[in-house]
Amino acid sequence: MIKSAADMIKALRKGTFTGVILYRGPSMLDGAPIVVIANRITDASTNSKTGAMVQTFIVRADADPMRALREGLDSSVCGACMHRPANNGTCYVNVGRSVASVYGALTRGRYAEPGVDYDTRILPDLFAGLAFRMGTYGDPTAAPFQIWRACTLNAAAINGYSHQWRDKRFAAFKLLCMASADSTADHADAHAMGWRTFRVKAIGAPSLQGEVTCPASKEAGQKTVCADCLACGGQSAKARASIVIEAHGATAKRFVGV
Ligand code: SF4
Repeated sequence: MIKSAADMIKALRKGTFTGVILYRGPSMLDGAPIVVIANRITDASTNSKTGAMVQTFIVRADADPMRALREGLDSSVCGACMHRPANNGTCYVNVGRSVASVYGALTRGRYAEPGVDYDTRILPDLFAGLAFRMGTYGDPTAAPFQIWRACTLNAAAINGYSHQWRDKRFAAFKLLCMASADSTADHADAHAMGWRTFRVKAIGAPSLQGEVTCPASKEAGQKTVCADCLACGGQSAKARASIVIEAHGATAKRFVGV
């Protein structure tokens, strides 16, 4: 079993593993079996908006992600998010590509198993100094808060978003995540509950007091990437403002938020 972050980095560089499993167990949302996988640990992400970040994927352990989408099993990893396709939503994640590919590698045993291949006490060191995205796919609240806390303890930057902020069971996540807000009412309610917000607004709609436009957005001129901006880490970020962005991507025109 790997017992140090340095040895895990070596194993990842050698290709012994493609990434690490951070959590395998029941979903905190509905109890169904889920797996949380981290990849892009030793190489840069090619995502043009986030920059070089560790990416994490939350998937059902017992169903491939496309089947989970079709049959609504993705509620175990995305909760009641209005952007789920099952809710006729506008989720921007291309599940058929990136998530399906991560799931394929999972079924081929490409990820290090916690407590079997590595000692989970290495997690704070493994991600020290890196930019860490909580839930590239899936809502971070599906996995226990302590797992995310360990992974982000020494991270240089944290990006996290949750649609589960109305659920008081997940109040601790406001330390690391932004409340995803889809309306001005969401914005007001989330702030009243102590969250910073990341709000998606309709194209051309005004920003609210205390909001700044995401600098990686098209409307702000794509000035930076998340790994350098560092704003979307909930209360743990230095930034105090909340963030707003115009609906974007192929499904932006269907966005009906206000
Ligand atoms: S505000 Fe900063 S951290 Fe948040 S999404 Fe935009 S660029 Fe990324």
